[in-house]
Amino acid sequence: MPSSPRSGPSSLPRSTEVPLPAGATAVSALRWAGRRLTGFVDSPSVDAEVLLLSVLGGTRARLYAAGDLVLTSVVAGQFVSLVERRGAGEPLQYLTGRQVFRGLDLQVGPGVLVPRPETEVVVERALALIAAVPSPVVVDVGTGSGAIALAIAAERPSAAVWATEVSGAALAWAGRNAAGLGLERVAFVEGDLLSGLPRALQGTVDLVVANPPYLPQALVESAAADVRDHEPRVALVSGPTGLEVPSRLIASAWAWLRPGGWLVMETWPGQAEDLVALLGDAYGEVAARPDLAGSLRMVEGRRPVRS
Ligand code: GLN
Repeated sequence: MPSSPRSGPSSLPRSTEVPLPAGATAVSALRWAGRRLTGFVDSPSVDAEVLLLSVLGGTRARLYAAGDLVLTSVVAGQFVSLVERRGAGEPLQYLTGRQVFRGLDLQVGPGVLVPRPETEVVVERALALIAAVPSPVVVDVGTGSGAIALAIAAERPSAAVWATEVSGAALAWAGRNAAGLGLERVAFVEGDLLSGLPRALQGTVDLVVANPPYLPQALVESAAADVRDHEPRVALVSGPTGLEVPSRLIASAWAWLRPGGWLVMETWPGQAEDLVALLGDAYGEVAARPDLAGSLRMVEGRRPVRS
């Protein structure tokens, strides 16, 4: 399938289990894990390296420089346990506890969507749309880990950034990330879409940006196990068609935007055309834009200056 979400086998069958030999070196442990995960994750050797580094610390270069050092039984035990959990479908980033997003080291874990590389392109577009606006007011709707809001705050220090989230668990991750990165000036509010924002913001927002849940229910059921069984449904599934939450966002963002303000949201190619049509009813300068892989990944529209 050319677009998200990934599909794949659900978990590693226990019957193929070959234990890591005692006295294994770092390199032989990596080889063992690569074989163990083959067929069950997209990048077995990358995952193996990331997991071993998360146990050992240090850099990839140091890992290979010390590749024939024998692992202690404690390290070997921790590594085996992480590899087994990865093979059983847990997201790699939940196991390491982190994901880098536009250079920001974000903490993630159960209860929050792992930020995706394609969303970095949405941030790129968002920054371009406010480039000429002095001290822009920005709202990230459904912020999850805080990825979009924190990246915009870091890359555009003069922006006043608000972030909303309906899930209390996700909001806790976002708050930890803001504190960890020294970006506490991002204002987080709990609530559905924009409903938790102070009413005084209505008609003043320069940019509403969002990676809303946009997948149809059925698509998530056939996704890879890490997405389907571990990441929060509230961040992924919009409803039977996938258009439910995005269309509510298109309708509700309008009143918060200033005339001339922009809405930009992530989507997937299967619904970009529908969203362009929905935006076209009220917004101007409507467009769908590709990500780096050429898939239609975002849609945007502008509240007309005069309407
Ligand atoms: N891109 C995500 C995936 O493929 C979906 C994120 C979303 O629904 N907003 O799993």
